[in-house]
Amino acid sequence: MTDVADRARAGFDREFGGSPAGRWAAPGRVNLIGEHTDYNDGFVLPFALPLRTVAAAGPQDGARWTVWSELSGETIEFGADEVAEPARVTGWGAYVAGVVWALREAGHDVPGARLAIASDVPLGAGLSSSAALEAAVMTALVDLGGLDLPAERQPRLAQRAENHYVGAPTGIMDQSAAIRCRDGHALFLDCRSEEVEHIPFDLHGAGLAMLVVDSRAPHRHADGEYAARRRSCEAAAAQLGVRALRDVGVDQLDAALARLDDPETRRRARHVVTEDQRVLDTVALLRTGRVREIGPLLTASHVSMRDDFEITVPEIDTAVEAALEAGALGARMTGGGFGGCVLALVEADAAETVASAVAAAYADKGFQAPAHVTVLPAPGATRLD
Ligand code: ADP
Ligand code: MG
Repeated sequence: MTDVADRARAGFDREFGGSPAGRWAAPGRVNLIGEHTDYNDGFVLPFALPLRTVAAAGPQDGARWTVWSELSGETIEFGADEVAEPARVTGWGAYVAGVVWALREAGHDVPGARLAIASDVPLGAGLSSSAALEAAVMTALVDLGGLDLPAERQPRLAQRAENHYVGAPTGIMDQSAAIRCRDGHALFLDCRSEEVEHIPFDLHGAGLAMLVVDSRAPHRHADGEYAARRRSCEAAAAQLGVRALRDVGVDQLDAALARLDDPETRRRARHVVTEDQRVLDTVALLRTGRVREIGPLLTASHVSMRDDFEITVPEIDTAVEAALEAGALGARMTGGGFGGCVLALVEADAAETVASAVAAAYADKGFQAPAHVTVLPAPGATRLD
């Protein structure tokens, strides 16, 4: 397949004629560690993938937006009426119209535009193709219109587009990662203050790589389970008299757990509190370049998700176990659970061996073959030309 940026340019030429004014790329992401901590006001640590969504864009007169995506091969068009209120554009176009809506609602004079979208981010695999699309479109519109909107204020607006226009209740992590990540770094995000810090994550320099395995597990009851986990966490915080579980430190964990009478609520709270600490420990190791040593923290995170938070599924556990047996330094499910991807920290030259071991374990159990890609931390949204 040709390069994603070339495909966006070719799409622009074919659909609209001529060359775009520029091309803007935004990445998919994985969360290195910190699962289900976001809505507990805690910490997450995503990094950007080398898989990107590219928007080739050019101006158009008036308040009109015409958008083609190679994904569906369709071209959609909308104007001021459709972005006056949420949900007037539906389907994939809602992510684009939502960005226009959120920018206009924040008082920006969004330029009319033609956009051609191509992407290497797989959809619905938990790698956040939605935020990549929003970020590519937002950065394109901001630059085309010369809008006064610095990068640090963009994630909030992209999140508003997804929450209110599309109607998908997500946190701030995906959009922050797609917009603000840096090459060779992970993004340490405090979900309470929304402050970010770029943490060196030089896998390449350490002779390592990250294997991302798409479990291909069907998402079973994921929405209902997610809501149930949120309720448990809120109940635990309420019983402990804190604003959110973020406010319980690991040093207070035993005392806090003793005050929760329901064993399931106790396990849920233990996951969140220990997971926040694992994020902080990972950040501390990475700050001093001890990349290899984060492996056990990744694996401990998985065990906590499996046993305490109970959000893993057999495919996911099989992939993690097989990766560890084949020599991965650490492995865990990433994302909300009940499917999605597994990360395995591997020696750079062992990635294929580990991937084969996972595939073999899958075959043994009769699971649908997994897909995999080996990645290094990549840049956030950027203008290409
Ligand atoms: P994820 O973000 O985990 O990949 P979501 O369900 O949040 O999954 O978002 C996927 C949706 O985003 C797709 O169903 C589609 O509507 C939209 N989308 C993402 N990338 C593209 C693209 N390149 N072209 C058109 N729509 C896209
Ligand atoms: Mg998404």
